[in-house]
Amino acid sequence: YREIQLANRPEGTPTDSDFNFVEKEIPTIDTDELLLKTLYLSVDPYMRGRMKDQKSYVAPFELNKAISGGIVAEVIESKSEHFTQGDIVTGSMDWAEYNAVEAKSVQKVDPSIAPISTRLGVLGLTGLTAYFGLLDIGKPQEGETVVVSGAAGAVGSIVGQIAKLKGAHVVGIAGSQDKIDYLINDLGFDEAVNYKDANFKEAFQKTIPNGVDVYFDNVGGEVSDAVIMEINRNARVVLCGAISAYNNPEADIGPRIQWKFITTSSMMKGFTLGDYAHDFKTGAQDLGKWLQEGKLKYEETITEGFDNTPKAFLGLFDGSNLGKQLVKVADP
Ligand code: NDP
Repeated sequence: YREIQLANRPEGTPTDSDFNFVEKEIPTIDTDELLLKTLYLSVDPYMRGRMKDQKSYVAPFELNKAISGGIVAEVIESKSEHFTQGDIVTGSMDWAEYNAVEAKSVQKVDPSIAPISTRLGVLGLTGLTAYFGLLDIGKPQEGETVVVSGAAGAVGSIVGQIAKLKGAHVVGIAGSQDKIDYLINDLGFDEAVNYKDANFKEAFQKTIPNGVDVYFDNVGGEVSDAVIMEINRNARVVLCGAISAYNNPEADIGPRIQWKFITTSSMMKGFTLGDYAHDFKTGAQDLGKWLQEGKLKYEETITEGFDNTPKAFLGLFDGSNLGKQLVKVADP
């Protein structure tokens, strides 16, 4: 079988040559271990940070070792009393067609609740990120204006819908007309604006007659400058991601508009999902309930084939994905 290793630490935007496909022998497993066949694999923007040799909240990927991330897999062989062949599980594993793991490092997936791929999106890391970042830091109140950037992506699309559930006026910012149409027509956002349009700033300002109370930021950079200029008194700016800067060889200097926070008594707070590990169950229950009640919709962009994993990852940086970007590696 094959695994995908990090061949180089990319300078700027990564390319195919930064990934190396390496042949491996299927491993044997010991007591309390599982042999897993990868079904779905998640590609995520934060992985770009792990390709740099820098100190962060997760260790960097090592050169010439497998890249790892969220995977949904099928148990092919079990030497654990808690799992049997055919079980579907999820966890963080190597980007490989097969993985041998400790049984305690994965969780069972119940295929009757929702399609198993959702455990890598709306019912997994990205859904939970939207849930905790928005509700714990953003704290949207009825009638307030919530703006979300990266709005048609995995996190952003869920943020906007939860904000709607809380009775907010919701404005999404995304990078294509198709995405704008999707946000308004399919997800029920009140307004959506394309940040690539020449008149973005003016168009955005028209969507927020009452200013901005909550800004859920997935992208950073100039888009965020435009939003932060419009924040109201006691606004909450949720720093979730800054994808516009991930491929910059040099760090951006900032924040640039502190005075806006001073003069409006607003706050800006960053987080990583791990901050809420103690509460994942609550988040997953609420998200699952909203999904089953039809209050929450989700989209997945599924790239077929393990070979196309680097392509799917690189697509995150040019906006090829709508909703959660996944790779389908095999059928159960
Ligand atoms: P997405 O599904 O949103 O995919 C990334 C999207 O970012 C693309 O579709 C693209 O959409 C947009 N994008 C790419 N480059 C730029 C750019 N230069 N300027 C503006 N937008 C850009 O990914 P996720 O939902 O998984 O992640 C969204 C953000 O949340 C990321 O920044 C990620 O790092 C962060 N995150 C943070 C977590 C945390 O714990 N704090 C956990 C998970 C994610 P478009 O077509 O609109 O440009």
